[in-house]
Amino acid sequence: MKQTLPEQIYPWHQNVWETLTTRFPNIGHGLLFYGKKGCGKEIFAEQFLAWVLCAKRQPNHLACGECGSCQWLKADTHPNYVHITTDEDNKKQNAKIKIEKIRDLLPFVQQTVDGWRVIIIEPAEALNTASANALLKTLEEPGDRVVIILLADHYLKLPATIRSRLQHFALDRINEQQAEQFLNQHLSHNDLAQQHLLMNLSNHMPLQAITLSESEW
Ligand SMILES: [Zn+2]
Repeated sequence: MKQTLPEQIYPWHQNVWETLTTRFPNIGHGLLFYGKKGCGKEIFAEQFLAWVLCAKRQPNHLACGECGSCQWLKADTHPNYVHITTDEDNKKQNAKIKIEKIRDLLPFVQQTVDGWRVIIIEPAEALNTASANALLKTLEEPGDRVVIILLADHYLKLPATIRSRLQHFALDRINEQQAEQFLNQHLSHNDLAQQHLLMNLSNHMPLQAITLSESEW
């Protein structure tokens, strides 16, 4: 998931960002960020992760980008952050998240350390029954100052027992105007017909439309 983060929250994520960063730390310790492919939920999760760990976090702002914690994240060496995903690099369909990875979380969430700890699990659909059950245990008895974030395209594919223990946030509620504006700013040539076609092909998710425009389609 290593990438340069945009220096802004996408307009269609602004409300959720505001909610999370003003209520923090009075939020659930298990969060579900969901939305169609190309809505930018991975980037949002990284922005939030950086914010939670940032030494200078402020409501409604992004992580400072300069403190020790922000530097660690950039170098991908943050001791208070764990990223869990499938083993296969290409994340081929049906690749699963192994139960060992979820079990290995226990010492991480139970240790006593200074500051917050964040775990990102994606795609959450890749949890099989065994790993989902193991995760339940962690969600039921988290340590102090732990945030567990699950990312999913389709949250209905997650087991109901997991879903019911998470606070849900939809990140793909994008209105036409926001999408249009975004494409105008980010597409190299602005052909209206092409924009419409791209949006239709990408389920009206602007980041997916940009990716598509850059591929040979
Ligand atoms: Zn910082």
